Amino acid sequence: MTEVKSQLDYAKRDAVIEKVAARLGVRALRGKRFAELTSLRVGGAIDWVIEPVTEEQAAAVVYEFEQAGIAWRALGSGSNVLADDAEHHYVVVSTKELKGEARFEGERVSVSAGYSLPRLCIDAWRQGLSGIEGLGGIPGTVGGALWMNAGAYEHEIGTVTETVRVAREGRVADIPGSSVEWNYRHTSFREGELLLGVTLRLQTDEPERIKARMDEAKSRRMATQPHGSRSAGCFFKNLPGSPVGTGKMIDEMGMKGTRRGGALVSPVHANFIVTEGEGARAADALALAEEIRERVRRERGIELEYEVELWSAQEPEEGSEE
Ligand SMILES: Cc1cc2nc3c(=O)[nH]c(=O)nc-3n(C[C@H](O)[C@H](O)[C@H](O)COP(=O)(O)OP(=O)(O)OC[C@H]3O[C@@H](n4cnc5c(N)ncnc54)[C@H](O)[C@@H]3O)c2cc1C
Repeated sequence: MTEVKSQLDYAKRDAVIEKVAARLGVRALRGKRFAELTSLRVGGAIDWVIEPVTEEQAAAVVYEFEQAGIAWRALGSGSNVLADDAEHHYVVVSTKELKGEARFEGERVSVSAGYSLPRLCIDAWRQGLSGIEGLGGIPGTVGGALWMNAGAYEHEIGTVTETVRVAREGRVADIPGSSVEWNYRHTSFREGELLLGVTLRLQTDEPERIKARMDEAKSRRMATQPHGSRSAGCFFKNLPGSPVGTGKMIDEMGMKGTRRGGALVSPVHANFIVTEGEGARAADALALAEEIRERVRRERGIELEYEVELWSAQEPEEGSEE
C-alpha cells in the first residue's frame, strides 16, 4: 500500500535533500512542473528537480538519496514521457546539465548522458564517423536513447554501444555494451539504474556520404511526421513482424484528427498524439490514447503497447526509482 506522508515527513525529507545538494554542490530546484520539462508540455508539479553537472556528482547524489530512502527518477529531455497531472512527490534527477564535451578518439566517441543525441550525430558526421546518422532526428539525450534503445532508419544506439557508464554505490562504473540486452525500444537496464555516459564505437566513412544519409533520414521524417508540434514521437510500439505500422492501422480506423480536450491524433501521423493550447492536460492525452487502444482491441483484436512512458504521481514507492 502506498504510504501517505505527513507534512512533517516531507519537511524532514526536504531538509535531507537540501543538505545533500549543498554538500555535493548540485543545483536543487523547487516549483518545476512536468509541463516545463517534457515535450508534450503537460504534467503536474514536481517536489524537487536536481541537476548534476558531472557523472561523479550524479552517481554520488543518487547514492545519497538511496541511502536516505528518498525516491527519485531520471529525466533527460522528456521527449518520451507522459507524466500525469497530479503532484509528483519524488525527486527528478535531470540530466540536462550533464553534458560536457564529446571526446573523440579514433573510431570511438565518449559522451555524458545529458548530451544531445542530434548534436552527437552532427559531431560524428563532422569527424567522418558513421553508425548513428539515422538517429539525428530523435530529439532527446544520449541517456534517454540508451535507456530505450532508440532507433530510426536502420540505426539503433545499442548496436554501436561499446561501454555504458552507470552509477553504482556512489561511483561511476563501466559495463560492456555486450552485457546489455538491446531490444526493440526496450533494454535490460533496470529501474533505479542511472546511466551516466557512453562510449560508442563507430566506423570511418566519407563525411559527404554520412551527411547524404542524414539528409535522407531528415527528409523522410519531415515528409511523414508532424514537426514543431508538442508530441512524444510514436505513442505506441509497432507490432513485431507486422508489415503494417501502428500509425497506418490507426489511420485506417479513421482516427486522424480525433480530439479529446487539448490532445489530438496528429493529422500527419496517426501514431503521434499532440497537445495544443495552454489548457491541455496529461489526462486528455491519456484518455485519447486509451480510446485508441480500446478501438484497436475491439476492431483488430490487438493489444497495443505504449512506446511513451506513462509516469504516475503514485509512483515510485519510497526508496526506489519505480
Ligand atoms: C518528434 C519526436 C520524434 C521521435 N522520434 C523517435 C524515433 O524515431 N525513434 C525513437 O526511438 N524515439 C523517438 N522519439 C522518442 C524520444 O525522443 C526518444 O525515446 C529519446 O531517446 C528519449 O530521450 P530523452 O532524453 O527525451 O528521454 P526522457 O523522455 O527524458 O526519458 C525517457 C526514459 O528514459 C529514462 N532515462 C532518461 N535518461 C536516463 C538516464 N541518464 N539514466 C537512466 N534513465 C534515463 C527516463 O527515466 C525515462 O524512463 C521521438 C520523440 C519526438 C518528440
